[in-house]
Amino acid sequence: MAGCKKIYLSSPHMSDEGYERNYIKEAFETNWIAPLGKNVNEFENELTKYVKIKHGVALSSGTAAIHMALKAAGVGKGDVVFCPSLTFSATVNPIIYENAIPVFIDSNFETWNMSSSALEKAFEKYTPKAVIVVHLYGLSAEMDKIIEICKKHNVALIEDAAESLGTKYKGKYTGTFGDYGIYSFNGNKIITTSGGGILISNNKEKIDKVRFWSTQSRDKARHYQHSELGFNYRMSNILAGIGRGQLKVLDERIEKKKYIFEYYKRELSELDSIKMMPINEWNEPNYWLSCLILTGKVTPIDIIEALEEENIESRPIWKPMQMQPFFERYDFIGSGISERIFENGVCLPSDTKMTDKDLERICKIIKGVCKRDGIVKKWQ
Ligand SMILES: *Cc1c(COP(=O)(O)O)cnc(C)c1O
Repeated sequence: MAGCKKIYLSSPHMSDEGYERNYIKEAFETNWIAPLGKNVNEFENELTKYVKIKHGVALSSGTAAIHMALKAAGVGKGDVVFCPSLTFSATVNPIIYENAIPVFIDSNFETWNMSSSALEKAFEKYTPKAVIVVHLYGLSAEMDKIIEICKKHNVALIEDAAESLGTKYKGKYTGTFGDYGIYSFNGNKIITTSGGGILISNNKEKIDKVRFWSTQSRDKARHYQHSELGFNYRMSNILAGIGRGQLKVLDERIEKKKYIFEYYKRELSELDSIKMMPINEWNEPNYWLSCLILTGKVTPIDIIEALEEENIESRPIWKPMQMQPFFERYDFIGSGISERIFENGVCLPSDTKMTDKDLERICKIIKGVCKRDGIVKKWQ
């Protein structure tokens, strides 16, 4: 609609207090623009303290963090790595960087995340080098079962918690359960450094190794000497300053994200054809995106287009990896649940700068579309 300001799915939201700017200013004043510096060290300290883990290494992206986690876990050419089919491609790409072989594991309806029964089935067929579990949209996977399976098979567990910083599973932060965890600070995530990521672990030796690899694998020598392949993956001191400021408002952002989800849930629950994403009693999500499933005749595209006409951004659920042209050559273990979630799901606008008026407008549009539909089709 002309004249209406655009509502985003999830856009950067700097603190009202200007914390981010102050840390950047300090970096300028001390000429600590690059490389590394105080903001990087403090960002690592502050974030690891927040999620209660021992060590972290700030990197240029969440994707780089997954890549380094795979290397730390010893994944190399020809190794099999299990990962969810319902995720963003960045979970999977680093497996390919290492010439390893992804095997996609289906979701379940209860969590939308990796199904532990599909995971067990996959272990009957393959002996993987690592398992990557994802906590999608801020919901947590069923960690007890997944950890038990990984322990039984003695295989490394990597948590892609890119979307779930601040989410808790049974009182403990997602990202801190596995051998390695990663967070992303990309522009649309719950907090952002404009671009960045971090790898966390309780294993100091491994984190030190990643710090070495990600700064070009320079041996301890005055001349430039390299005994291993290097990467230029470290976070800059300027961007880490933005991250330090953003960490101060993380709890506030989670609170607003939760408010947005509850608003949608309350307003849309009158519609038989809408089911909000599953919140389990053991899960305290960060509610990064508010997502729903359509159980009637209305399709995700109907909702997305109706919102788009009013300059409001929403999007489909991640398209499963076994449906992607690039990844369809790899094996998939499951029964089509991730496809069902994709085909019927919508990510609603979840921007923390939205007002109640914005939310009211969005709900009105969705109700308008759904009320054109009377018949309820059976879901599950
Ligand atoms: C955003 C995201 C990533 C990648 O993070 P970047 O910082 O953008 O590289 C990885 N996995 C998931 C599930 C994500 O949503």
